[in-house]
Amino acid sequence: MKPLTFDNSYAALPQAFYSRLNPTPVKAPRLLAFNDDMSYLTGLDGVPPEDRAAVFSGNQLPEGAAPLAQLYAGHQFGTYNPQLGDGRAILLGEVLGRDGIRRDIQLKGSGPTPYSRMGDGRAWLGPVLREYLVSEAMHALGIPTTRALAAVATGEDIWREQGALPGAVLTRVARSHLRVGTFQVFAHRGEVENLRTLTDYAIRRHYPDAKGPMDLLRGVCAAQAGLIAQWMSVGFIHGVMNTDNAAISGETIDYGPCAFMDAFHAGRVFSSIDQQGRYAYGNQPNIAVWNMAQLATALIQQMDDKDAAVAEATEVIHAMPGQIEEAWRARFAAKLGIATPVADDTALIEDLLALMQKDGADFTNSFRALGKETARDQFTDREAFDAWATRWRERIASEPAPLALMQATNPAVIPRNHRIEQMIEAAVAGDMAPFERLMKALCTPFEETDPELARPPAQDEIVPATFCGT
Ligand code: AMP
Ligand code: MG
Repeated sequence: MKPLTFDNSYAALPQAFYSRLNPTPVKAPRLLAFNDDMSYLTGLDGVPPEDRAAVFSGNQLPEGAAPLAQLYAGHQFGTYNPQLGDGRAILLGEVLGRDGIRRDIQLKGSGPTPYSRMGDGRAWLGPVLREYLVSEAMHALGIPTTRALAAVATGEDIWREQGALPGAVLTRVARSHLRVGTFQVFAHRGEVENLRTLTDYAIRRHYPDAKGPMDLLRGVCAAQAGLIAQWMSVGFIHGVMNTDNAAISGETIDYGPCAFMDAFHAGRVFSSIDQQGRYAYGNQPNIAVWNMAQLATALIQQMDDKDAAVAEATEVIHAMPGQIEEAWRARFAAKLGIATPVADDTALIEDLLALMQKDGADFTNSFRALGKETARDQFTDREAFDAWATRWRERIASEPAPLALMQATNPAVIPRNHRIEQMIEAAVAGDMAPFERLMKALCTPFEETDPELARPPAQDEIVPATFCGT
């Protein structure tokens, strides 16, 4: 195998940042899914097809890799956990892509690490394929996200509540795996030098124009504000917005009990462990701000003039709800065909969402149907919809190309929960056809290539809850 173009900057950071170790080999690796575009982009097409299963399960280390597990901490459901870290993931290293972009290549489910705590360091096929599919779908929707390069079955059983399940390893590609929690761990320990080193590293890697920690904070807040607005605009619920799952790069990371909504409800929660609805659909903007406040708190620990830093950070955090709202309005206005939103459009958007919520209308299909004769069929209170539609038509009369804008912003197909569950069930039984069918449609989500996949779940197909399933 010819050497790959690894360029490992994280491994060059102080040893306090990680533990060096190799993935734990697995019994019988078998390639289930492979992303040709991503492998080309990252230069990992240098791995010959016959070696892919071995390399992307961790059985064979590519030349130039410097495997390690990263240390981090984080607030989980609002409670600080002083040590998390990669408990079942190993960073093989970084590659400079054909597009000049530096990316982490990480194996997830690759065996225990010093941060595994009670866990086995493994993942089962279900969450691996879910993350593969949903992260690629997010990318196709134009939403910043980590990517999936490969999914490999390990040939080993792993044990979860449900019993024995087939194990798998996901190869995840990310701009980096720096999280809010990476900063928190050093800040909480009072390791100011490490915090400074990390800050400089994050600036160099992601926000090269930032002049210092508070500028970095500004950059991350802006990225997160845009990201949350994008999630909201496709009905996405992340499910575990803990600070260890908030990426400094602004990419969506860690697809656990995530879900796309079918029937719209702002209070929708899927995750079985989110009893209080902390990470409900409509609460995501608040949580993003809360997470950024934790980042601010961590960053401040390195500042010489703490009072000035607190004042500056407070201003940045207080500006964030407005930033999210503006990005939210722009995204939803576009979904209504409005290219240049004004403040008044908020009411038009909110009134439609209120109608959807009252009628339990399908979020994706209602937006997609706007502008078609059939739009009112999505609602039970058709008079109320007609009244809204009259206001809406007046508003878009002066817009240059509302229909084209709507076609480009309202997906025809999203990864619906019941389809994902059906796909996983089939994959466990050895049938990858549903996975491939979904992948194909989700790669061009704004085209109506497979109308059956756009159908909301029938009563008996509804998936009421999703599980972390780690
Ligand atoms: P997550 O909910 O996937 O973001 O994971 C939260 C923390 O639990 C991280 O530190 C993970 O590395 C760790 N973790 C999750 N599942 C496992 C597992 N099966 N074995 C070891 N650690 C795990
Ligand atoms: Mg995580």
